[in-house]
Amino acid sequence: MLGLLSYRCGVSSRRLPYFDENTEPLPARIATGLHKIGLAMKQQAWQQANDEGLSPTQGQILAVLVADGPLTGSELSAKLGVTLPTISDSVRVLAEKGLVTKSRDPRHPRASLLTPTKKGAALGTRARSWPEFIATAIEGLAPEEQRAFFSGVMKMLRTLQEQGLVPLHGMCLSCTHFRTNVRSGPSPHHCALVDAPLASDQLRLECPEHELALPAARNELWEQLLRPS
Ligand code: SF4
Repeated sequence: MLGLLSYRCGVSSRRLPYFDENTEPLPARIATGLHKIGLAMKQQAWQQANDEGLSPTQGQILAVLVADGPLTGSELSAKLGVTLPTISDSVRVLAEKGLVTKSRDPRHPRASLLTPTKKGAALGTRARSWPEFIATAIEGLAPEEQRAFFSGVMKMLRTLQEQGLVPLHGMCLSCTHFRTNVRSGPSPHHCALVDAPLASDQLRLECPEHELALPAARNELWEQLLRPS
């Protein structure tokens, strides 16, 4: 029977609420929820890329080039967490479509810098708005829910970064300029690059000025963040 479980204790019997016994642990259900959100994002990305005559990877490349300026294929690969051969294939198609141009990289004479053309930049700007439907859904959360969600997402991303599953790029928590819990009050953290305080809900996930700290320093930042102040 779908419903109540029972057990006997001496002569009496008690029924446990069904969902006390039949609910997956919270981490598993959060993972299921994130999976569903991921599927929705993938589906939207395919739909919107298709509408623009692009693949999702091509759209992501243009979006990153618009946001970060000219980059090499290796830099795109690191930022997007996509293999270099996949990036090379997408860049070749983008160049054939007249959406990116290649020029010599003065930093690395054997590498090429990729720059969006005017048409490519317009597409890249539109591609940057593809995840906006998720932001709209998040706007429906209460401010304290948004802050808790952001904190959870940031900590999850940090764990996944250290496991090599998310590119080590852009987050304050892995940045050499980040100082954790250096003061009390609403903005306990500090960015040494711009010499400015940071609140926990102001931490960056995609900072263009990010400089990767060494593993030992990243661990120290993490431990400082988790330490009660
Ligand atoms: S440079 Fe950017 S990523 Fe680094 S601490 Fe400052 S705001 Fe954060």
